[in-house]
Amino acid sequence: MTAPGAFTEASSSPGETREAPIHAGAKIARAWQALAGVLDPELPALSIVELGIVRRVHIDDSTLVVDVTPTYSGCPAIEAIQLAIHDALAEAGLADARVAIGLAPPWTTDWIAPEGKRRLRDFGIAPPHAGGTRVDITGISPLRRSGAAVPCPRCASTRTRLLAQFGSTACKAQYRCDACLEPFDYFKPH
Ligand SMILES: [Zn+2]
Repeated sequence: MTAPGAFTEASSSPGETREAPIHAGAKIARAWQALAGVLDPELPALSIVELGIVRRVHIDDSTLVVDVTPTYSGCPAIEAIQLAIHDALAEAGLADARVAIGLAPPWTTDWIAPEGKRRLRDFGIAPPHAGGTRVDITGISPLRRSGAAVPCPRCASTRTRLLAQFGSTACKAQYRCDACLEPFDYFKPH
C-alpha cells in the first residue's frame, strides 16, 4: 500500500531489533520526517513542527533526543504530545528515543511557521495577530483589547468582538464576528 522504502508497519518485524545501527544523520532526518506527521492535539490543523514546538532533534550518547517546548508551561496537551511523538518515532523504527521538555526560552506564537498560520485560518482559527496586544496567558490580568482588531478567519472582517477570554482551550480566546455572525477561536499571542 505504501511506497517501497517507506517506513511501514512491516519494518517492525522481529528482525527490527537486530538491524544495523543507523547513521546518526539519517536517524535525525528520519525523526524529523516522522515528527512532521504528528498533529498537535489542541490544534489538529497543525503538525507539531509547523507549530514550532519541536526545537531540536539530536543524538545524546547514542539515544535520539527530541527537544520540545510546549506552547505554555501549563499546557495539559504536553503529555498527549509526548505520547504521540513516541508512537510516531516507534513507527519509524526509532523506538529508543527520549522527549526532553524545555521551558526556556519560552515558546512564542512567533515560532509558528507562516504555512502554519495559513492552515490555522483555513481551520477557522484566527492566528496570533502580529499587531495585537500580547496577553497574559495565565489569565491573571484581563485580556486587553488593543487598537488592532482580530480579523475574522472566515470573512476577514475586523468587526469582531471578544466573547470569552478562554475558548475551546486556555490557549485561545473566543470571538464572534459581527459581519458573518460566526464565532471563532483566536490563538492568543504570547
Ligand atoms: Zn466573519
